Amino acid sequence: MPPDDRYSRQIRFAPIGEAGQQRLSAARVLLVGLGALGTVTADQIVRAGVGFVRLIDRDFVELSNLQRQSLFDEEDIRNNLPKAVAAEGRLRRINSSVQIETKVEDVNPSNIEDFIADVDLILDALDNFETRFVINDACAKHRKPWIYTAAVGSYGLVMPVLPGTTPCLRCLLGSLPAPGTSPTCETAGVVAPITHIIASIQVAEALKFLTGNLNADDVRLTAYDVWSHRFQRIDVGKDSMATCSVCSDGNFEYLHGTPLRTITLCGRNAVQLIPEVKADIDFKELSKSIGVFGRVEFNDFLLRCLAPPYELTLFKDGRAIVKGTEEAGIARSIYSKMVGS
Ligand SMILES: [Zn+2]
Repeated sequence: MPPDDRYSRQIRFAPIGEAGQQRLSAARVLLVGLGALGTVTADQIVRAGVGFVRLIDRDFVELSNLQRQSLFDEEDIRNNLPKAVAAEGRLRRINSSVQIETKVEDVNPSNIEDFIADVDLILDALDNFETRFVINDACAKHRKPWIYTAAVGSYGLVMPVLPGTTPCLRCLLGSLPAPGTSPTCETAGVVAPITHIIASIQVAEALKFLTGNLNADDVRLTAYDVWSHRFQRIDVGKDSMATCSVCSDGNFEYLHGTPLRTITLCGRNAVQLIPEVKADIDFKELSKSIGVFGRVEFNDFLLRCLAPPYELTLFKDGRAIVKGTEEAGIARSIYSKMVGS
């Protein structure tokens, strides 16, 4: 089939044209996270004919994903497939001309710089702030543009970051939110329309950037709530860059530090997680949301949630022990879903 035919409607769209399509086919993109946002983004950038796509995700496909994660189906669950593997198979059937590389890995300070080194753009489709802050640092250090997205409930955010030119995630958020203070999709739920819309806005920004149509002066934080239809385009303001430790001082504390340190407790089939930001967790409040995972009990000192095959024990300051695994990546994933980080 002639390539012109596949991309004909996109080429006919004047801002892209033949020249834009050629730029897309030469472009290299990293997509981190293959959940509700990442599956939609991956589907669209592969269909659009981006030349090379690297996909990274640490999780397996589960039944609770199918309500919104549009690349997966029941067969993937029966086959116990990692999300990256399931997505790769589907995406290859969609567009065999795209070079797709997949990694079933936890993205962290030890590997992020390798993953971004040979790409033009990084797309964030993560579910936790800890890893986004690592991406923010790495992209600032290497001057790599990236696009932040987040969605929970019926609400979502998108913001392109052009390091050195537009505000970064630290400009927007300051420090890492303390554990237990941000809702997660596991605790607050999420509806499919918002993740599809937010991912689609991310892809639009990516297409603009990759075809030379993204004007740095027009970069904003986009916020949308699909339940109330409240839509906002927020100017984070370049003033924030002057006081941001990443943008103004080149201080990459999340790349060089360890916001959520993990220690495997050998012989106990458990991992201890120690957040750098000390929390003061309200167990009564958290017990309401964390109850969706399993039986919860708590006292003044610790909260325990039994979610077989895992057991989470959480202390007031945010420190936790996850029993049932010796793998740091799995423990981090459980922590970010249940406690939020
Ligand atoms: Zn900044």
